Amino acid sequence: MSSASSETERDGGSPGDRRVFSPRLESFLEQLDAGGTPNSGTFCAFCYNPLPVDFERCDHCGQSVDARPPARSIPGAVVAMHRRKQRRESLVVNAFAYIGLALGVGLFIAMVAAEYYYVHALWLLLLSIVVLMVGSWSLARLIGGYIGDELGYRYASRHLATDWAAHVAERETERRQ
Ligand SMILES: [Zn+2]
Repeated sequence: MSSASSETERDGGSPGDRRVFSPRLESFLEQLDAGGTPNSGTFCAFCYNPLPVDFERCDHCGQSVDARPPARSIPGAVVAMHRRKQRRESLVVNAFAYIGLALGVGLFIAMVAAEYYYVHALWLLLLSIVVLMVGSWSLARLIGGYIGDELGYRYASRHLATDWAAHVAERETERRQ
């Protein structure tokens, strides 16, 4: 009981936004994209969580193997869904990295202007160059890596949840026919 609630906490949220792909599926899809594994194995027929041998019930969605025999590969639509998620994530991370870069450049320009109009000191000019070279790089990494990463994850997860809901609706309709 307590392990279930800590699981939800680690996944970052209320039961409403619980993650679509299990951590095991996520790492399988990453390996698959990198060409590190063939698209075959034993996967939960509902959520495609890779199931270790002897698992009678999916440890991600609870689907029983008896009720619904495992899938032997991940459908192309799900692989594509994962790729879209990765793309969305890196798009946001990159956008925020550029914001960091722009901030660094802005700071550099402000310092050069201050030197030129008010301070007239060589050290400020040198410092501004350090800010341009080190500062803009650090800001890009910092803003991209923290804010971008967090927002990108949320943005991509929200879209993934929508994609997933549509996929399941379509799949279950076909199954009933
Ligand atoms: Zn499952």
